[in-house]
Amino acid sequence: MLALRRWSVRHAAFQARAYRALVSLLKVLQPVFRAIGYERAEKPVAWVESNVKGLFFDCHMCGYCLLSVNGMACPMNCPKSVRNGPCGGVRADGGCEAKPEMPCVWVEGWRGMQRMPAAEFPRLPNAPANARHAGTSSWLRLARGGHTPPPISGAPATATESRLERLLGDGEFVVTAEFSPPDSADPAEVEAQLRHFRDHVDAINVTDGSGANCHMSSLGVSALLVQAGCEPVMQISCRDRNRIAIQGDILGAAALGIRNLLCLTGDGTVVGDHADAKPVFDLDSLSLLQAARVMRDEGRFLSGRKLTQAPRLFLGGADNPFAPPFDMRPLRLARKVAAGAQFIQTQYCFDLERLEAYMARVRDEGLDERCHILVGVGPIASAKTARWLRTKVPGVHIPDAVVARLEGADDARAEGRRICVEMIQAIRGIRGVAGVHIMAPRQDEAIPDLVRDSGVRSGRRADFAPVRAVEREELP
Ligand code: SF4
Repeated sequence: MLALRRWSVRHAAFQARAYRALVSLLKVLQPVFRAIGYERAEKPVAWVESNVKGLFFDCHMCGYCLLSVNGMACPMNCPKSVRNGPCGGVRADGGCEAKPEMPCVWVEGWRGMQRMPAAEFPRLPNAPANARHAGTSSWLRLARGGHTPPPISGAPATATESRLERLLGDGEFVVTAEFSPPDSADPAEVEAQLRHFRDHVDAINVTDGSGANCHMSSLGVSALLVQAGCEPVMQISCRDRNRIAIQGDILGAAALGIRNLLCLTGDGTVVGDHADAKPVFDLDSLSLLQAARVMRDEGRFLSGRKLTQAPRLFLGGADNPFAPPFDMRPLRLARKVAAGAQFIQTQYCFDLERLEAYMARVRDEGLDERCHILVGVGPIASAKTARWLRTKVPGVHIPDAVVARLEGADDARAEGRRICVEMIQAIRGIRGVAGVHIMAPRQDEAIPDLVRDSGVRSGRRADFAPVRAVEREELP
């Protein structure tokens, strides 16, 4: 099946011509379908469609076909059901994060698109899969004209009370850092860990089951951070919750005083300590961003039901300029911005050349004007850790020169921190970069020194403005 799928991508130009012919045929057949009745035609047409597309594309009959906009590679074969991919975990050889034996469907799709004359990567997000359409015919939906992407919210972004948003808006070079929640129910452990962050960074990202491992929830820790007078960025992933639970958590977060939300697809369950858990992935990061944006700016749920108080949240997403397909990454970023991303935090950067190339494309697209880009950095403790990271954590790219430098150092841990400081200083000089995001798991104690030695926050007031309660207001 995989061989036929790959054949279809290799012959994407032919498949695209066949698809266009099919669309014309469906338009001609409209009166016939109307005469028969679309409901009566559904079963036989779906049967034919499922067999033809199943054979060539391993089609999952999601009911809203994306083949023609993804180089004839079906995104539903993605183990994380990413419909606006690729995720940040694509391996260096283009292999899938969750199933290394399979090429990433988005890398395949990108190759297919290069073979399709006049194919353009869509700048607007695809709709999330609709569970009610599963198993139904996309062809018939196309014939009926019900196969158009959902409109993007045109409402202006609502102002929030995020201190991070204010700093970025003022043109400050900001520093955020990642906080790994403890395996504990004791808030004192959160408080103790905070000493490495408080007063040293502008906002604190609270991870949401990162690496698909279970810890105290990001909502719980973010609320504790608000109580402690700090500015959390609550990470929220699509892996463990469907759209009902996620929207509820967004409202809960806003009610608890959380003002920043980082929308992620999440790591696949297979990489974590609960590999037997059922992955949800009802939404992907882009549709999650869209959902949060609709809630904030239009004051309604995805279902259309109105909220009595909209959540005021500064919305962010993640990107990985260091994972293939490199040319596609800035285009996907454009999609994220269209979905509602106001800031972006990237995967670890150890390769300035690649970052420069990415930022040049980002600037060409004008994206640095429309969202704030924070580049991921971190200290590596040893050459062994570097090798482990680049082989075991899909999407992490560490050049040989960095590994060699760690290997040749007398004190590898100190060298890793020096590399990180140099990286922060160099990144600060790249046009369009708005800040850095420090990820130092198991080295939290290094954060104050990294920030101080890099000098990027010198002169900044070391305070966290207390979060005020949102005043209740009437929605239109
Ligand atoms: S690498 Fe990510 S986006 Fe690509 S197929 Fe695998 S899980 Fe899906």
